[in-house]
Amino acid sequence: RINNLLKLIRLEGFEEREPSTLSGGQKQRLAIASVMSVMPQILCMDEPTTDLDPIGKSEVFEIASRLRKDENLTLIIIEHETEEALYADRIIFMQDGKVIADGNAKDMLSDVQKMKSIGLMPLQVPELFQRLGYKEELPMTPQEGFEKINQLGYVIDEKQYNEILKSDLKREKAYRDTLIKLEDVCFSYIEGWPILKNVNMEIKNGEFLAVLGQNGSGKTTLVKLLNALLEPTSGNVQVCGLNTKEHDVFQIGKKVGYVFQNPDHQIFAETVYDEVAFSPKIRGLSKEEVEQRVKEALEAVDLQGYEKEDPFTLTKGERQRVAVASILSARPDVIILDEPTTGLDYSEQRRMMELIKRLNENGHTIIIVTHSMWVVSEYAHKVAVMKNGNLIAYGKTREIFKMEDMLKDCFLKVPHIVSLSNKMGNTVLSIDEMIACLRRP
Ligand code: ADP
Repeated sequence: RINNLLKLIRLEGFEEREPSTLSGGQKQRLAIASVMSVMPQILCMDEPTTDLDPIGKSEVFEIASRLRKDENLTLIIIEHETEEALYADRIIFMQDGKVIADGNAKDMLSDVQKMKSIGLMPLQVPELFQRLGYKEELPMTPQEGFEKINQLGYVIDEKQYNEILKSDLKREKAYRDTLIKLEDVCFSYIEGWPILKNVNMEIKNGEFLAVLGQNGSGKTTLVKLLNALLEPTSGNVQVCGLNTKEHDVFQIGKKVGYVFQNPDHQIFAETVYDEVAFSPKIRGLSKEEVEQRVKEALEAVDLQGYEKEDPFTLTKGERQRVAVASILSARPDVIILDEPTTGLDYSEQRRMMELIKRLNENGHTIIIVTHSMWVVSEYAHKVAVMKNGNLIAYGKTREIFKMEDMLKDCFLKVPHIVSLSNKMGNTVLSIDEMIACLRRP
C-alpha cells in the first residue's frame, strides 16, 4: 500500500526524508496518502488541494475518483475551487449553516448567478456564455466552449486584440530601473544537493511578477533569496544595488518585505497595532512616525478601527491583511507574498488581489508565489516558471500562458478562459478581455 500510494502522490524516492523538510505541497500530499493508507469506507477531505500545483490538484481528484470506483469509497470533499468540482457526482452549496442547493455537478455549476451570490467563483466558460446572452444549455469546459463558439460563428477580432497587446506594451514601458538582479544563482540547503541551478533574472521597479512551478520546484527558496533570508551558495543576488552576501536581512528587509504563506507564522503581537508597529519601532522611528506608518498601512489594507483587536480573533482573510500591513509599515520597495490567496474564499481572494494590485499601482514592485492560475492570469504582468530548480521560462503572462504544453510539463494548467482562447489562436487572460474581443462576422 505504501509503495502504491507514494507513487500516486509522486513522493517515490522520499521514503527516508524527514517530513518537516518537505515543501508545503509535498507535506499535504503525504498527509492525504497517510489517511488513504487505512483504506476507509468514507473519506472526508477538507480543502485537500489548497497547497497543490494545478496538475497536482487534478491528480488528487483523479486519484480520489479512482479510489472511489475501485474501493467503493464514498468521498466528501470541501472545496473552493470550482474547476475541480466538475469531477464530483453531486454538489451541495452551503451558506450560513444551511444547505441552499443540492444537485448534480453540471446543474449546480451552470448556475452562475447563484454561485456569484454566495461568493463562489463561477466556471469561466459558462460565465462567458451567460454574459454573451446565450440562453440554451451552457457549455462547461474549454473544449465544449470552443465547439459552441465555432457553431455560433464567433471569432476574435484582430483589431480589438491588438488594442490589448498595445496596453501590455504601454505598461511594460512604464517600468523603472532594475531593482533585483540574480546572476548565476545556485543554492543548496545540503552540500552537494543543489536546489536552485544557475538562475538569472532581472526584476524592474514597478513589475508585478508571479513565480510558478510544481510543488518542490524551488519557488519559496528563490523568493527567500530575494530578501536575504537565504544567501546564494554561488552567484550573486543584488537588491537595489546591494549584494545580499554583504547585507543582512535587517538591511535588505527595508527594501524587500516578505509576507509568509501562513499569516500565523508571522503574527506574534497581542494587538493589531503592535503587530503593524513592530517594524518601524525596531528601526528606531519616533512615536509620531510609527503612528503615522501604522495608520497608513492599516488604511491600505482596509483595517482602520482594528488597532486594538487581537489578531488571532480575526478571520483568515483579515489576519492575512494584518500580515501585509505589518510589511507595509516598513515602506518596502518590493513586496513578496507567498501564496497570498490560499485558504481564502473567492470573494476574499478577490479582495486580497485588488489590494495587492492597488499597492502595485502605488509604486510597489510585487512578487507573488502562487498556484492559483486565474490570479496570475488576471493580475500578474510577468511570470517566472520554475522546474527542478531551473528557471525555465520568464516573460509576459500572455506569452507564457500561450505555451500550454510547456506549462503542462511543469505541472501547471492555464485557466479555462485562457485555454479556450488559445484554441482560437490568440491568448486572452480574462472573461472581460474575451468579451471585448469576440465578434460575430
Ligand atoms: P516550492 O516552493 O516550489 O514548493 P521549495 O523552495 O519549498 O519549493 O523547495 C524546493 C526543494 O527544497 C524541495 O525539494 C524541498 O524539499 C527542499 N527544501 C526546502 N527547504 C528545505 C530545508 N530547510 N532543508 C532541506 N531541503 C529543503
